[in-house]
Amino acid sequence: MTQWVYTFGDGNAEGKASMKNLLGGKGANLAEMCNLKLPVPPGFTITTEVCKAYYDNEKNYPSELKEQLRDAVASMEAILGTKFGDTTNPLLVSVRSGARISMPGMMDTVLNLGLNDETVEGLAKKSRNPQFAYDSYRRFIQMYGEVVLGIKYHVFEELLENAKRHQGVFTDSELTTESLQALCIAYKNNVEKETGKPFPQNPEEQLWGAISAVFDSWMNNRAITYRRINNISSEWGTAVNIQAMVFGNMGDDCATGVAFTRNPSTGENAFYGEYLVNAQGEDVVAGIRTPEEIATMKNYMPIPYKDLEDIYHKLERHYKDMQDLEFTVQNNKLWMLQTRSGKRTTKAAIRIAVDMVAEGLIDKAEAVRRIEPESLDQLLHPTLDPSAVKKVIARGLAASPGAVSGAVVFSAEEAEEKSENGEKTILVRIETSPEDIHGMYAANGILTARGGMTSHAAVVARGMGRACVSGAGDIHIDYKKQCFTADRHTVNSGDIITIDGSTGEIMLGEIATIAAELSDEFSNLMEWADDIRTLKIRTNAETPEDAAVARKFGAEGIGLCRTEHMFFDADRISKIREMIIADSIPDRQKALAQLLPYQKEDFIELFTIMAGLPVTVRLLDPPLHEFLPHTEKEIAELADLTGVSIEKLNNRIESLTEQNPMLGHRGCRLGITYPEIYEMQAQAIFEACVDVLKNGEKVIPEIMIPLVVTQDELSILKEKIAAMADFVASKSGINVEYKIGTMIELPRAALMAGEIAQDAEFFSFGTNDLTQTTFGISRDDSASFISVYKAKGIFANDPFVSLDIEGVGELIRIATERGRATRPDIKLGICGEHGGDPASIAFCQEIGLDYVSCSPYRVPIARLAAARAVLK
Ligand code: ADP
Ligand code: MG
Ligand code: MG
Repeated sequence: MTQWVYTFGDGNAEGKASMKNLLGGKGANLAEMCNLKLPVPPGFTITTEVCKAYYDNEKNYPSELKEQLRDAVASMEAILGTKFGDTTNPLLVSVRSGARISMPGMMDTVLNLGLNDETVEGLAKKSRNPQFAYDSYRRFIQMYGEVVLGIKYHVFEELLENAKRHQGVFTDSELTTESLQALCIAYKNNVEKETGKPFPQNPEEQLWGAISAVFDSWMNNRAITYRRINNISSEWGTAVNIQAMVFGNMGDDCATGVAFTRNPSTGENAFYGEYLVNAQGEDVVAGIRTPEEIATMKNYMPIPYKDLEDIYHKLERHYKDMQDLEFTVQNNKLWMLQTRSGKRTTKAAIRIAVDMVAEGLIDKAEAVRRIEPESLDQLLHPTLDPSAVKKVIARGLAASPGAVSGAVVFSAEEAEEKSENGEKTILVRIETSPEDIHGMYAANGILTARGGMTSHAAVVARGMGRACVSGAGDIHIDYKKQCFTADRHTVNSGDIITIDGSTGEIMLGEIATIAAELSDEFSNLMEWADDIRTLKIRTNAETPEDAAVARKFGAEGIGLCRTEHMFFDADRISKIREMIIADSIPDRQKALAQLLPYQKEDFIELFTIMAGLPVTVRLLDPPLHEFLPHTEKEIAELADLTGVSIEKLNNRIESLTEQNPMLGHRGCRLGITYPEIYEMQAQAIFEACVDVLKNGEKVIPEIMIPLVVTQDELSILKEKIAAMADFVASKSGINVEYKIGTMIELPRAALMAGEIAQDAEFFSFGTNDLTQTTFGISRDDSASFISVYKAKGIFANDPFVSLDIEGVGELIRIATERGRATRPDIKLGICGEHGGDPASIAFCQEIGLDYVSCSPYRVPIARLAAARAVLK
């Protein structure tokens, strides 16, 4: 018989931490804490297999479940000496969802289940605290009503506000028994009005209602969206945890709280968290009252605080990772309700990993394994320029770092719409809820008026790497008027503001930002990654600025310098235009001679910055028409400059126009038809080398010919370049060492790699063009259908983001094998966008490439990804 239910309690559990797939994260960790003999209220977990069975059988449960559940309840009753549904000594439970990984889209927890008009009286008598009993009952009716019966919360909220106003108090905990009793009746009436049925009084019915609601929530829109964003399979299913209640709302020696064993924002090794006295469950995260800092608990509740401290140390040592804890204190006794690996910013993740290596908890390889390469992006986020003038209109909590500016939006939908149009937005909400997930993902920053450091907004923003300022109590949001006010300023929807998630400041307008400073821990981690990895990391750069940034981030050379980018500034473009419209070779050479000094200067700068590291220079690649003037004004200017008539110019432009420039007269085809261009570029490279060598510095140029498909193309051009090398050598008396190679960016080139390698000393896989030409898809035109292909599952990933290993990867494999067969020491690298994508890097590692080359800001990501590819 299948075991559908796993019990825990009284220092014993049938499950354990490694059973997350079956018990969900929450259930597995509750079991583990029990096994560690920590104080955990007893309960049981209904497995994720039940969820699967439920959906496979038209929402029917496995037949044995009922009996297994009854036994599990009986064992809780035996431990506690209470009885589910008993009118004098009732067992109350919470019903909690829990998938393999924590999922904000899932059903909210229902607390105090088992209460009804009779058991509430029993609870009142037994606890000698009717106020507490009715407080629990009104919470239960509301939670069950909202979560299980789907009733909107605002009527409940209104009724609660009325009760407080009626009694003349400000907080929930001040309500008297009489007020609470009246409130329970009003709540029940509301349920009956909304659902047409009385509030369910039978505890068994309540329990099954809540269980089904958890399983149903697995397929709600929030959960589906979350799974889509995070690539989670709907096959996983969720578990349900039923657990005996402990009460944080029984009086002033009771509390509920959440804590992190280390600071989740900075990673500092200091206990961190918040708690609320005389409160229950979600009160802390919901931002109903502002919670106290955990440190004050030491004085206020010394006994449970001491226990909490011991437990958090124990849990950290046990899990060897920072934990996120939930706990409740009932009459000065501590109960643990949850532990899990805590969400953290990248900054914190790195600090924690590096600290834990120093503490001997984990080794360096494990530290490298713990940091997601993509997440480093967060660190490279800008901070506010300290010298910028800023107008701070309010402050909130520094909930998730990064300084961002954007247009104010008040709804998730609007954030999503605007981001689709490429607009930056700041999502401004009183507080966020799981329904806002898609908008939080789309927004560049999140600002909330309510909620602490552990509020929904703060936790989700940190996980997503969005800047967030939470709990900014001084801003007053009016959703109806679509504006907020702060410090006498009114900010309307669409106005630009800046938020700084590292300081909590909220500012009017767009404020200048500067690039991030990287911490010592970051450098440590990167060194460890460098020790592990075998792939070299280069960068794609053609400007001195980019090259310098890449060097700072640890690039070991330039893998792709696109020379055409050097021609676009105003001075040069006119010269290149002159060159293009020239209709005789001498005229063309004359124009090229004017470009030579510029080009030489560029290379001297790049070679100097790269200080002896290899630099791959790609000779001119794009079709010439990309350089030509388009507007009448530009054409007239060019006519003035060159003395060529406008008519003739127009004819020339016309003649250069192509149907399919991407597949047209470009790359080495230009080199073959206009050899003077590549000769000039080669001369500039060699002369730059001579200058650099004369200065006593080192340089290794690698000259790369684009778009080759036959060996002949390469050998013809190679000869011309060699002749130029000889020419410069004889002129200067200095012999420049260089390599010559080609991009492999067309399927035919990959197939002919064996022949091409006879002339090529290196291959660089130009995976952007290779993907375009293998798929026959133009990247710039793919936006309209790639997302549909992804949604339909035809493409698992966008092949322009993550290398298509099956198809394009196969061509790379073939080229690698054939190239090596001809020339065993051929140097192999990749230089498309994919050079900075962790999954693509793992592939490059697997087939034994020598290096990957990526954009400067992705260099750290590539270093880490290359190390993790080795550890895999
Ligand atoms: P989430 O996954 O949203 O954190 P949980 O299932 O952990 O939801 O429940 C939220 C909160 O409800 C817990 O942090 C705790 O404060 C409260 N809670 C859950 N179960 C119990 C219980 N058995 N006794 C008391 N409080 C509980
Ligand atoms: Mg929880
Ligand atoms: Mg190309």
